[in-house]
Amino acid sequence: MTFQAFLIKYAEIGIKGKNRYIFEDALVKHIRRALKRVEGNFNVSKAMGRIYVNVESNYDYDEVMEALQCIFGIVWICPVVQIPDHGFEDLSKRVVEYIEQVYPEKPKTFKVDSRRSRKNYPLNSQEMNRELGGIILDAFPDMRVDVHKPEMMLHIEVREKFINIYSKEIPGPGGMPIGTNGKAMLLLSGGIDSPVAGYMIAKRGVFLDATYFHAPPYTSERAKQKVVDLAKEVAKYSGPIRLHIVNFTDIQLYIYDKCPHEELTIIMRRYMMRIAEELAKRSGAMGLVTGESIGQVASQTMQSLAATNEVCTMPVFRPVIGFDKQEIVELAVKIGTYETSIQPFEDCCTIFVAKHPVTKPNINVIRSSEKKLEEKIDAMVQEALDTTEIILCE
Ligand code: ATP
Ligand code: MG
Repeated sequence: MTFQAFLIKYAEIGIKGKNRYIFEDALVKHIRRALKRVEGNFNVSKAMGRIYVNVESNYDYDEVMEALQCIFGIVWICPVVQIPDHGFEDLSKRVVEYIEQVYPEKPKTFKVDSRRSRKNYPLNSQEMNRELGGIILDAFPDMRVDVHKPEMMLHIEVREKFINIYSKEIPGPGGMPIGTNGKAMLLLSGGIDSPVAGYMIAKRGVFLDATYFHAPPYTSERAKQKVVDLAKEVAKYSGPIRLHIVNFTDIQLYIYDKCPHEELTIIMRRYMMRIAEELAKRSGAMGLVTGESIGQVASQTMQSLAATNEVCTMPVFRPVIGFDKQEIVELAVKIGTYETSIQPFEDCCTIFVAKHPVTKPNINVIRSSEKKLEEKIDAMVQEALDTTEIILCE
């Protein structure tokens, strides 16, 4: 069946009162952006609390669907058959054709829901429901009407210039359109958790920038490329991500040299947060995002989280904080980042990971260890900020 249009339904953004148009306009913009990558001519428009994607050329159904299913704010995608009004008899034929083609296996029960915005159509909605219902029953004797829980809800909409026929609702990702809730800085490693964390925050309408701490030659070019690839995967949903690559080697070596080895991870993470926060301020982000989950590793106990959090003034969002690893993995698979995340390139060098890291760091102890860095650390942080490379991932 060839669908001439896709009707986009959104829920949450429909309830935003006076600001509704901001959400709708953002959604239209993101749909246009996503469809630029798909071959074909698409016309995206707003009409009476709905968004239509009209197709004006040949196109690949699966590609369009895949693009639309990545756009936050979309709750349902309905492929629509649009026909000119050549009278009721013609409409009846087209409805039967529609069911024949769209349902290789016929639904057991159905209901017809007709509406007309063109009031001079010869039949009113009720009459249309009744007439079309009868025609469907005649054409498909095994089907029956169920007005309460129909398997197929067939929508017929008589508009000014054409008639819409649709019944399928394919789920979108939900959430809110990107950019309607400010911007945050994602600490993106090459692991499984942080891309999922970025996805979850972006889903709430937050625009993302990202920061990756790179430690050449301890971490390879390939590890960096993996993070770029992950940023691109997340960008399918979040829109373009400016990925900041911070050269972290000197700072790590300095910490390794000066501080007790069991505190390395915590101190290192505190510097990551400080640098990410500075980069966030520079790019207008209002919060940090990490892929931490309570108790997953030594640096993610309550005490460790408190110790890393302490150096930040911005809110730190940890959307997977209460998830088990398996739950995070499931989401990673669903959004398509898992395969890249499990490639065997270390995101952080293992030589900097102590055999017995502290699991309950005492903040005062950590602070006094950091005092040992006083001589050079500020200049090193400055140097890291100044030499940060930015890659646009889209
Ligand atoms: P992930 O799967 O996201 O790598 P993880 O389970 O490996 O997480 P950690 O290595 O303790 O956990 O890192 C916790 C969080 O700190 C990560 O989710 C990420 O947000 C951030 N992070 C860790 N290493 C880096 C890095 N090299 N660059 C940027 N952010 C990092
Ligand atoms: Mg990691």
